[in-house]
Amino acid sequence: MLISVVIPLLNEEDNIPLLYEELKGVLVTLQETHEIIFIDDGSKDGSLKILKELQEKDESIVVVSFRKNFGQTAAMAAGFDYAKGDVIITMDADLQNDPHDIPRLLEQIRAGNDVVTGWRFDRKDTFINRRLPSIIANKIISLTTGVNLHDYGCTLKAFRRDVIKNIRLYGEMHRFIPAIASGMGIDFTEVKVNHRPRRFGYSKVGISRTIRVILDLLTVKFLLSYATRPIQVFGFMGMVSGGLGFLIALIMTLQRQFIGMPMSDRPLLFLAILLIFVGFQFVSLGLIAELQARTYHESQNKAVYFVRSVYRAGGNETSVRDANGPQ
Ligand code: UDP
Ligand code: MG
Repeated sequence: MLISVVIPLLNEEDNIPLLYEELKGVLVTLQETHEIIFIDDGSKDGSLKILKELQEKDESIVVVSFRKNFGQTAAMAAGFDYAKGDVIITMDADLQNDPHDIPRLLEQIRAGNDVVTGWRFDRKDTFINRRLPSIIANKIISLTTGVNLHDYGCTLKAFRRDVIKNIRLYGEMHRFIPAIASGMGIDFTEVKVNHRPRRFGYSKVGISRTIRVILDLLTVKFLLSYATRPIQVFGFMGMVSGGLGFLIALIMTLQRQFIGMPMSDRPLLFLAILLIFVGFQFVSLGLIAELQARTYHESQNKAVYFVRSVYRAGGNETSVRDANGPQ
């Protein structure tokens, strides 16, 4: 079994050497072969230089260097594209995840799970702007997707290859992989993992991520439940709205016709018109979405990132100019 460790990083020059030592120390104790895939997400510090130096010494390292900063999710998607492993493990580069948890994740994979997610049960981040929003977000995500996890945000996760190769990532979506994958009918479990405070470098995210995550949740929910049948959501809303509008209009017409109640000075008339309009809009939107859904499912073959070069054993610096993954 080949294990691929995928590590997205942005400006982590002080962490990389320590992370490499610690991670390598764990990987060599495993019975399996391994590769480490670093994705340099457009670092402006010495990260890339350090990675290239490591790669020259260690054949098991692959370095993928982005042209600019495309974000953690895109970096992770690139890592998945270049990973050759049967099991793919993701982790942060800032030493907050502990490589010593990897054997326990693998144990759960061997036990038959397709996805194993880390749960930072003793999380070492500030409470008010990091842990609290995260607790709320995890609750909302669990309720919406029906996949109950304590910690969606933990990067330390292990995936069986076929799960990952069938998921395309956008926005902040990497954290939803378990939820998306659950739509594919996979088995998953949670493992308590160690979490450490950040010692070097700085955190790249703030409170704004919570909002982006919630917005992405909406997308995921939609993709999970209705992507293949949008008319059923929009059509339903359209029917309710249009039906209600029609009913109000009907009652008002009857009142006008039979008890001579004037119609034009009643605000309710506007509501009825609005509801009928909105009803038509929703139904048309549903039909357009149906067309779109077909295009979406049948034509997607685009990468969400642009790679400048790849550093790996046997042939360095392949220039991959187009928006494509590994050839
Ligand atoms: N990261 C990245 N691209 C970005 C932002 C972050 O590759 O645009 C990496 C970062 O280097 C780290 C991981 O993603 O390895 C998690 O980032 P960070 O530690 O800032 O997030 P936090 O732990 O504070 O949630
Ligand atoms: Mg971190």
